[in-house]
Amino acid sequence: MKFAPAKPPIYGQTLSALQHWLQNAGEPAFRAEQIMQWLYKKRANHWEEMTNLPQKLRTTLDASFDIAPTKHLLDKQSADSTEKLLLQMGDASLVETVVIRAPQIGVGLTKSRKTICISTQVGCAYGCKFCASGLSGWKRDLNAGEIVSQLIQVCQQEDTSTPRADQSIASFDNIVVMGMGEPLANYENLLEALRIVNAPWGLNFGARRITVSTSGIVPKILELAKEPEQFRLAISLHGATNDVRDAIMPINKRYPLETLLPAIKEYGNSKGRMITLEFILIDSVNDTLRQADALAKIATDLGAHINLIPYNAVPGMDWKRPSIDRQDRFHNRLKNKGANATIRREKGHDIAAACGQLKLQTESAA
Ligand code: SAH
Ligand code: SF4
Repeated sequence: MKFAPAKPPIYGQTLSALQHWLQNAGEPAFRAEQIMQWLYKKRANHWEEMTNLPQKLRTTLDASFDIAPTKHLLDKQSADSTEKLLLQMGDASLVETVVIRAPQIGVGLTKSRKTICISTQVGCAYGCKFCASGLSGWKRDLNAGEIVSQLIQVCQQEDTSTPRADQSIASFDNIVVMGMGEPLANYENLLEALRIVNAPWGLNFGARRITVSTSGIVPKILELAKEPEQFRLAISLHGATNDVRDAIMPINKRYPLETLLPAIKEYGNSKGRMITLEFILIDSVNDTLRQADALAKIATDLGAHINLIPYNAVPGMDWKRPSIDRQDRFHNRLKNKGANATIRREKGHDIAAACGQLKLQTESAA
């Protein structure tokens, strides 16, 4: 399904597209830079705040572009300082954006490092057996403006709680594209959004601080490898052999490990960056020592880092998180085999932080 908003979101416009639009409207192109300043540096919420624009132009802009394509519906704060925002789009679809805070010793939560996790689709077509986002299938792609707007929502919220000393910077340290949806299945909109985030007139946010996570769409991994930006790549591996991966991730039938692993290698070589392999630990499914050995081999061959994530139970699904002992046994085996692995005793468990879960809870309670 395609969503055609009544007014396109202003956050989906590039500087050159806005310059064109202004020229067609009989306005000087330099106004585009002023508008971008208001949006990205001063975080204006309303056209009326843009006081250096003529009133007539503000009215035309208001009639032509949506300045608030996402509405903040619900906020959940977890005990471990992860916060989840449930956002409503113009067509009432719900998506999730998560703020993960890693406190710095001695400076408290306000100065913590912040990572923002954004969504790229409403639902997901890839149907991984353990994932809440895939449960009711794919509804639609988010447009570039809806993707950027999630970050702006967080910036506006963070600016209120922690006023910025430097107005020109984003209010967070890292972006991970690990929310709802498969980012590489919405490639054009994703790239457009990330370029707006990256642009000096936009959020001016470095590509090296942006991680894109994929379940393994090989042709798109290879396409992303050719783009000039140095985005980081994370692969949702979750199985170290085809039999295990086939059982939980349908995409593996299309792009099995013998196709996926060379594509990961090519991405790493072309960007000169270490890749992350995400590995959810699911009890008795992929947490055996045989899997650990196969995973260690894959990671050492690729020079990749392994991120172990104990599974976050989803209501209605039978998969379980392994005991701490079993998690440690797996982690230690990887280390003994020389692999570079960390275990993320995940954040936000009490607020349903894994992808798609807050939306699922909200919809089933409705
Ligand atoms: N579609 C992309 C990005 C979104 S999913 C991808 O699959 O990589 C983001 C991450 O959350 C993926 O690694 C996914 O496998 C993981 N995930 C999904 N459900 C989870 C759950 N219940 N517990 C822990 N991680 C989960
Ligand atoms: Fe989609 Fe990623 Fe969930 Fe798989 S893990 S269903 S690809 S969002």
